[in-house]
Amino acid sequence: MRLGVMGGTFDPIHHGHLVAASEVQARFGLDEVVFVPTGQPWQKADRHVSSAEDRYLMTVIATASNPRFTVSRVDIDRPGPTFTIDTLRDIRDERPDDELFFITGADALAEILSWKDVEHLFQLAHFIGVTRPGHELSDKGLPEDRVTLQEVPAMAISSTDCRARVAGGEPVWYLVPDGVVQYINKYHLYADPQATPVPVH
Ligand code: ATP
Ligand code: MG
Repeated sequence: MRLGVMGGTFDPIHHGHLVAASEVQARFGLDEVVFVPTGQPWQKADRHVSSAEDRYLMTVIATASNPRFTVSRVDIDRPGPTFTIDTLRDIRDERPDDELFFITGADALAEILSWKDVEHLFQLAHFIGVTRPGHELSDKGLPEDRVTLQEVPAMAISSTDCRARVAGGEPVWYLVPDGVVQYINKYHLYADPQATPVPVH
């Protein structure tokens, strides 16, 4: 099987994530794309992140209607911060015969490529960097055989903006799937001013 892996905080999952995954699934002939919500993200230690269960459930709701989309608990069930290398090792251990394609936005790709164990990452998966408005998709210095850049329809949506909208009483309809709007309202996510991005120290 050709398996796409889409990691993210998904706080909340939005249509930018879903369009990127769908586009890569079709272009690369992937049999399945597994969405992997992170545990406590080490890059975002300075802001409140919704509970792993809330982020997991929103991801399940958002992906439920697509037969090729699934959700994995490997990162949220592993104690401690999430590192992509652990995500890929766990998925490979669960699915040893699958070929892995890690799907990531231009911003996250640039970050990953700056890590020191990047060679190990490339052994575990092929990386697909997708366009993201506001972030340049550059092929400078990328190992061509392990990283492919893919244009996807531009969706200027971010989770940060969605959270700010909810906190400010603005709508997120059509930025996130309907079921996610309803989940956010039902559990009052992001409504607390503490939940908006504020420096803690
Ligand atoms: P936040 O604003 O909280 O950082 P986010 O919108 O960046 O949230 P993440 O969960 O951090 O969402 O992103 C998960 C992955 O999806 C990353 O690889 C990111 O680059 C990618 N991504 C997020 N939004 C888009 C988008 N609109 N188009 C393409 N890729 C995206
Ligand atoms: Mg992000």
